[in-house]
Amino acid sequence: MGEGLFSSVKYQLEMEFLGNGARGPECGARRDHELVGMATSWGSLLQDEQLLEELARQAVDRALAEGVLLRTTQEPSSSDVVSYAPFTLFPSLVPSALLEQAYAVQMDFNLLVDAVSQNSAFLEQTLSSTIKMDNFTAHLFDIYKQVLGEGIAQTVFLGLNRSDYMFQRSADGSPALKQIEINTISASFGGLASRTPAVHQHVLNVLSKTKEAAKILSNNPSKGLALGIAKAWELYGSANAQVLLIAQEKERNIFDQRAIENELLAKKIHVIRRRFEDVSEKGSLDQDRRLFMDGQEIAVVYFRDGYMPTQYSTQNWKARLLLERSCAVKCPDIATQLTGTKKVQQELSRAGVLEMLLPGQPEAVARLRATFAGLYSLDMGEEGDQAINEALAAPNRFVLKPQREGGGNNLYGEEMVQALEQLKDREERASYILMEKIEPEPFANCLLRPGSPVRVVQCISELGIFGVYVRQGKTLVMNKHVGHLLRTKAIEHADGGVAAGVAVLDNPYPV
Ligand code: ADP
Ligand code: MG
Repeated sequence: MGEGLFSSVKYQLEMEFLGNGARGPECGARRDHELVGMATSWGSLLQDEQLLEELARQAVDRALAEGVLLRTTQEPSSSDVVSYAPFTLFPSLVPSALLEQAYAVQMDFNLLVDAVSQNSAFLEQTLSSTIKMDNFTAHLFDIYKQVLGEGIAQTVFLGLNRSDYMFQRSADGSPALKQIEINTISASFGGLASRTPAVHQHVLNVLSKTKEAAKILSNNPSKGLALGIAKAWELYGSANAQVLLIAQEKERNIFDQRAIENELLAKKIHVIRRRFEDVSEKGSLDQDRRLFMDGQEIAVVYFRDGYMPTQYSTQNWKARLLLERSCAVKCPDIATQLTGTKKVQQELSRAGVLEMLLPGQPEAVARLRATFAGLYSLDMGEEGDQAINEALAAPNRFVLKPQREGGGNNLYGEEMVQALEQLKDREERASYILMEKIEPEPFANCLLRPGSPVRVVQCISELGIFGVYVRQGKTLVMNKHVGHLLRTKAIEHADGGVAAGVAVLDNPYPV
């Protein structure tokens, strides 16, 4: 266990002790004032095992009733038997200032993603070394080049993204908002995150903490995401056209997707769910490159699949190309998916790049840059050599990231060292980036998972903000933030290998 973690655990224990009402008479008024936030760190509650178990039973039943659901690992293609999506018993404390900052910068991130996706010179230059070494990115890039070569048929563009952050504790102890990544494809949990506030409000109401319950922010990302899809559908301009949702048959997170489908149906926009395989069998383009699926015209293609190599067979790549060539609004189009790569993220942090992409917008540039952690290229050359040497000298300060999405691909600690030793003289290293490791202050919460006992553990959180934008030709017609997602995971390993722990749904409790 690293020193930093130890001291923070000690800090947490002190907090809990004080929160337990065990303050001696030596605690003066000033101390009490400092402790006002304490009552809300759930310190004493977390020590009452019986109470936690009763609260957990209530919380789980409320989660099921609200629709905080996942299909089971045993039966991922069927909704006959479902369970609750794992979540925290209590909402986790998040400084309001950081929440506000994350919301405020979301429109800037929307603009930035949209700008990068339209800048083929930047994408080509940025990804040139990566695509030599990474097959998956190369395949996406291939499709991008084909579509560019033929001419982009779509005129309406829709971005549904989620920018994720952790709270870096700085030297003076105050937390800073640092971006982990931005997801430009299949950004998930907007649906379930719309249903978790009621669960945490329930828990606090059971405890008669009605004032605290009222502080839980209402949240409805699925509504906002659907608003973006509906706008794109409307601008496509064909009353009978439908939305095509690309998903796998084995989909545990279907209720999250259904939340968006339901919002659309309420607007009388019909959604059909199909797999890539279905597209390759029954999808077609007419001479104007309008997309048809089972004879039905498609206005918007919404991808909840297609972000990992394992999701593509040769047949599926062909289906993706067909979709990209069409004039339907793709969410995301192939350029926007490429914009979400770790390599692009790293290049965006280079001096002068934001200024080049967002000319005449110094305030947006400053807001964006303030959220960037240290990001380092591993391309062959002096700069990459230096980054590798620094990471080998202080492995606990870095994370090694390949061009992958979906979790579980990053390397930390000893594993990272081994990988870097192997990679350092090989061109393959260009398919990775190095990132500064964010070290948030851990806190105690109780994680609820089907089949697991109620247990209080040390946790860290990751905040995501959902962003939506719609562009018609050169005109941006929508640019907004539409809600948040807080995910919390246990810190089980000293090396901070959060990748090993599974995150659960949470809500920010603003302080
Ligand atoms: P993915 O595309 O697979 O989601 P991420 O970059 O989001 O990749 O990384 C996955 C997880 O790894 C994150 O949710 C976060 O918990 C952890 N992680 C990623 N980058 C960092 C970092 N710089 N510092 C600390 N933890 C990180
Ligand atoms: Mg992520």
